[in-house]
Amino acid sequence: MAHRFPAGLHGATSQTAAQEPVIRSAELRLSDRELPLVSPARLYVCGITPYDVTHLGHAATFIWSDVAASVLHMAGVDVTTCRNVTDVDDVLTQAANSHGRAYDEYALYQEYLFEKDMAALRVHQPTHEPRARHHVTQVQQLAAALLATGHAYQRDGHVYFRGAHTVARAGLTSEQALALSAEYGDNPDDPLRDDPFDVPVWRPSTDRQPGWPSPWGRGRPGWHAECAAMAIALLGASIDILAGGEDLRFPHHAYQAAMVETATSVSPFARSHLHVGAVHQGGAKMAKATGNLTLVTDVLRDHPPAAVRLLILNRPWHAPWEYHAGDLDAAAGTLEDLYAAAARPGTSPAAITAVTAALLNNLDVPQALAVARDEAGEAARLVLRVLSLA
Ligand SMILES: [Zn+2]
Repeated sequence: MAHRFPAGLHGATSQTAAQEPVIRSAELRLSDRELPLVSPARLYVCGITPYDVTHLGHAATFIWSDVAASVLHMAGVDVTTCRNVTDVDDVLTQAANSHGRAYDEYALYQEYLFEKDMAALRVHQPTHEPRARHHVTQVQQLAAALLATGHAYQRDGHVYFRGAHTVARAGLTSEQALALSAEYGDNPDDPLRDDPFDVPVWRPSTDRQPGWPSPWGRGRPGWHAECAAMAIALLGASIDILAGGEDLRFPHHAYQAAMVETATSVSPFARSHLHVGAVHQGGAKMAKATGNLTLVTDVLRDHPPAAVRLLILNRPWHAPWEYHAGDLDAAAGTLEDLYAAAARPGTSPAAITAVTAALLNNLDVPQALAVARDEAGEAARLVLRVLSLA
């Protein structure tokens, strides 16, 4: 299904008195980078590993990615979005095994619950929603390409990508990178590797793990290689925005980019990044492992979806923040103020320009909301539409 957006400002083209079209550059500033765009903008969002319920930390990533696409659409840019499902993953396999279910069947049920949460939160359906298990052939082709160009080597059923160069590029010290690699399951202590920062593009599977035949034996893809292959398959060798939670910056996105770039000779893989700030609760990052979770289904029982979106969006997208239960009531109050502003008359072109400029300036939602409240009328209605709050 196509990515459908509310009608917004299509300000990229206008007519002069002489009816000659004037094309203005559709330009988003993201972090400190100016990003002139040519349709279609390509947005890859690292999606879920479907093994457990969706919490507010997940919701923040997908709502901000959704708003980035809507803002681009507002500016007159067509957007192709790709949000993958990591349905070949050891965490998922373990969860499925513990429930006595096949990994793919278990994943489908969890995906159903996730889609329900996303629909309730008014997150638009992405243009593409690839599953890792449908792109195993592309991972094998990626492995073969990396082997052919000398960026990977085979060992005991594995194909390892030579990844030492990703550390400096990510601006990390070896110690920092090693800690992150261990934390996110890259197993840097694996003695088979030439270097602790080499990671598997392909690895052998036991009978209890999903596996496919390959030139290197029965096996399955590595995590970073899955997203590299799915991005190439659906969006090509280069994208405009790579989005995900801030914890994906390294190793996941660093390796995804390095694999695509070395296999395709196209660089950079991602022109910009949207690494969304983590949501904390009780002083720690919201996570299943620590049990400090607030689930999307629970907050939607007592609060309108628009209040949840507003709570997530009314802040800088990259900043980590602490969730307190009372915050949703405050967000619902702010929402009422916005609805009242939208109900007032008024179509000030300057106010609409100010809203548009704020959203294109690093997705500055707080500034856009301030203009909407002060100026009311069409400026407020535009903000409500673009943020899917109406
Ligand atoms: Zn990914």
